[in-house]
Amino acid sequence: MNLSELTLDREGLTAAIACEDAAFEAALREKAYQVKVATVGPEVYLRGLIEISNRCVKNCLYCGIRRDIRCQRYELSEEEVLTTAQMAAERHFGSVVIQGGERTDAAFIRKITRLLKAIKSIDTGADPPLGITLSLGEQPREVYEEWFDAGAHRYLLRIESSNPDLFRRIHPSDPMHAYDRRLQALYDLKAVGYQAGTGAMIGLPSQTAEDMADDLLFYKEFDAPMVGMGPYNPHPETPLTLSGAHYPSVQRRFSLGLKMIALLRLLMPDINIAAATALEILDPRGREMGLLSGANVIMPNITPREQMVKYNLYDRKTLNASDVQDLINKGISIGFGRWGDSKHFVSGI
Ligand code: SAH
Ligand code: SF4
Repeated sequence: MNLSELTLDREGLTAAIACEDAAFEAALREKAYQVKVATVGPEVYLRGLIEISNRCVKNCLYCGIRRDIRCQRYELSEEEVLTTAQMAAERHFGSVVIQGGERTDAAFIRKITRLLKAIKSIDTGADPPLGITLSLGEQPREVYEEWFDAGAHRYLLRIESSNPDLFRRIHPSDPMHAYDRRLQALYDLKAVGYQAGTGAMIGLPSQTAEDMADDLLFYKEFDAPMVGMGPYNPHPETPLTLSGAHYPSVQRRFSLGLKMIALLRLLMPDINIAAATALEILDPRGREMGLLSGANVIMPNITPREQMVKYNLYDRKTLNASDVQDLINKGISIGFGRWGDSKHFVSGI
């Protein structure tokens, strides 16, 4: 396939995703990088990732911290979260993401509310107060409102797959894991006023090129101001892995991960696109390659080390804590001390 033949409709996106020609993929990534620089600029925004807890009430079939997996559970104390956020402020990260398993108990909800207020009052010197993104799953709309009022302004909730059939195959079949519930939560987030980010896994068992094209069109239809999507990485003890279902090779998932970023940058030029951690698992240069393919956000993991190793969504023994200095050395320009909100959201396009 030739880049000049690419169209951004379902047919064109599907053909681009299915095409395994290395020259085409390289040209596509290069073009997406140029579009990124021309629209959102060359700067990369940082979100210090704090993995608050691996306790989860859900049982997603692909996830290494699902309810029924036996593993050592942890929950960071309020003090630990604050010390970590403080460190992000000192390093001028501009924003933090608080991510964790889904919990709906009142104690947890109140704890997040207190933390949001406390993080907002951290002294950041000349920088604006830290921006806060939450990624804590599906919650009742009132909870989203409570957290928004306490200071969170972005929320990440992946649709996981925009194909309801595929979504059903990778989740238990009960109301708690229903596709419609997920979708409703995304619309609730938007209605409350969050910059609602979404995304899907790439390279899932039985996922087709059409499914992935539809994921891209879903982000467009939802008008997502930010997207964080990444390759599926099997965890050895999950039902999805143990079922023996076939999924693409490491190399293929990696190139699909980069290609999806590049195609999305062409489809939605002014949104924030994260170079997902899952890319780094597949290739040590994953994050940098993601940035060169059109991504403009990275989420260096700043969770205290001894807990980080327990947050095993997938097997990530190979993951090194992101080294921002390494990116600077490679000439990548970082938007220190800034929230780095999506241009798309700010301009309301
Ligand atoms: N509980 C929250 C946030 C933590 S999970 C939620 O589910 O939204 C964050 C993301 O990790 C999920 O959205 C999912 O896309 C991703 N994830 C989980 N298991 C994975 C796996 N095996 N490979 C790749 N990504 C995975
Ligand atoms: Fe829980 Fe999120 Fe994992 Fe699902 S993907 S089991 S909600 S942590």
